[in-house]
Amino acid sequence: MNFTNLPQLVDMRGKLESKGTYSKRTKSITHRVWHHSLTLKNLGGSDAASFAKYHVLTLGWPGCGYTFVIEPKNIINTPNGKRARIVYANDINKRTYHVGNSNQFSLGICVAGDYRYDKMDDATLASIGELHAALVKDGIGKYDKAHNEMPGYSWKACCEYNYRDAFDWKGSKKTAKPAPAPDVYTIQEGDTLWSIAHKDGAGGVQVEDLIKANPGIDPTKLKIGQKINFGNAKDVIVQPDPKEETVSGDEVVKSIQKTLNSRYNAGLIVDGFNGPKTKSALIKSLQTELNKQFNKKLVVDGKWGAKTNAAIVTVQKGAKGNLTWILQAALYTEGFNPGSLDAIFGKATESALYKFQKAKKITADKKVGKATFTELFASKK
Ligand SMILES: [Zn+2]
Repeated sequence: MNFTNLPQLVDMRGKLESKGTYSKRTKSITHRVWHHSLTLKNLGGSDAASFAKYHVLTLGWPGCGYTFVIEPKNIINTPNGKRARIVYANDINKRTYHVGNSNQFSLGICVAGDYRYDKMDDATLASIGELHAALVKDGIGKYDKAHNEMPGYSWKACCEYNYRDAFDWKGSKKTAKPAPAPDVYTIQEGDTLWSIAHKDGAGGVQVEDLIKANPGIDPTKLKIGQKINFGNAKDVIVQPDPKEETVSGDEVVKSIQKTLNSRYNAGLIVDGFNGPKTKSALIKSLQTELNKQFNKKLVVDGKWGAKTNAAIVTVQKGAKGNLTWILQAALYTEGFNPGSLDAIFGKATESALYKFQKAKKITADKKVGKATFTELFASKK
């Protein structure tokens, strides 16, 4: 097998969360189906282990729904250069759940990330391209499809990245825009109200909406072929709110949002999703603290500008208090976990900061001054 020889591939078959096993395929693989996770790529939960947990513990599936998961946050140095790690999660002969009635003949590949906000990086593109080339050489699958190009799923907003950029693609480079959601949806293999509501981030659609639209159904016992109503969820699926939405919701981000609300009246929806509103609220909290503690007289507008930058004071090891908390929260939302958000600048915060400075190629002095705050808060997208 060519794919098992990829230096960035790690075999985690049998090592991820599971409950029972998927059955063997009864058809050979004809389709390679590309998915995304709609979790920001640098967040803690953006990896195969977390997806497996979600699929088993929340969706009730036997294991991770994908055969391969490409993890942009885990970069591996290979002889060919930097590559995003590829987790081999399930044996290719196992019929995992990811495209319902097409599971038998479809291989599921998930690229972690939320590409409405994340940018696809070169290491990830290279891993997609190399995995694709290896699978082609191995004769695994004939066609490449996005999730929403598979029967019954045209309304899915998956995938929101262009996997076609990563390899030689003969057809149109444009990914299919999600079609309007149907009034009635026919349940396919592996579908649960949770997977329909959340898995591919049909923006803001809640399981509660689906339950409301389908009184009397048991959300844990859906049968293949059963029809369910989309109800109120429908409009939201057609026009996903590109702002802050619940997908699987990061618990630490939720706690950050709660604190921003209670301490700074931020008025955020506590959804665990780190979007532009949360970032803006963090900048406001910083401006508020600079005014309060250092009499800076900044306009508290949540925007990163020259005046805020000029007002920055240096924060370093040993510091305590709200500025340290803001720093910890900002590091976490950028994907650099400072351990706990305890408002104490200790070893774990320093180490997260050091990694952040290294990653951003700014002076790694373990002190937080103008350059670091700019990297944390100036918008780059
Ligand atoms: Zn998908």
